[in-house]
Amino acid sequence: MDKNDSLLQARQKLMDYLRLNSLRNTQERIAVLDFIYSNESSVSAEELSRHMSEKSRLRVSRATVYNSLELFENAGLVRKILVNDQLLYERTDRNRGTIRLICGGCGKTTEMNDERVRRQIGEMRTRRFTMTGWTLNAYGLCSKCYASLKRKQKKLMNNKTDIDKK
Ligand SMILES: [Zn+2]
Repeated sequence: MDKNDSLLQARQKLMDYLRLNSLRNTQERIAVLDFIYSNESSVSAEELSRHMSEKSRLRVSRATVYNSLELFENAGLVRKILVNDQLLYERTDRNRGTIRLICGGCGKTTEMNDERVRRQIGEMRTRRFTMTGWTLNAYGLCSKCYASLKRKQKKLMNNKTDIDKK
């Protein structure tokens, strides 16, 4: 499916949801949805409102961004995920799952791809549960933080040997 198709499908899904719930459609909501569905990465409400106030030709208030996100979530268009204690929103049309490597030192988060893991989780059988997506968080240290930890350990060891010599 190309980028435009998924965007159009998301718009249609929103229209259907609004009609079913007797809610009115607004250009602002569409603009917020378009932004989410033209990006692959997850976004925080803060980032989203910043983007909407800087880049959008419409005036989209923070309240509208927050309301829209809640509405999209109810409509099954976005889901909330927690990354490093930060609440992010991601589109739901990607059921490919996300593998994240999270550094406990600096908090840097990298997404990685491992087809074997994806396939295994995709084949996983869940009882009385329909899986619509998944996130796998791996915790550890990035190479910079690991090197800095090693340096500190070495320094500590050297100090200790100095003390032992005295
Ligand atoms: Zn780090």
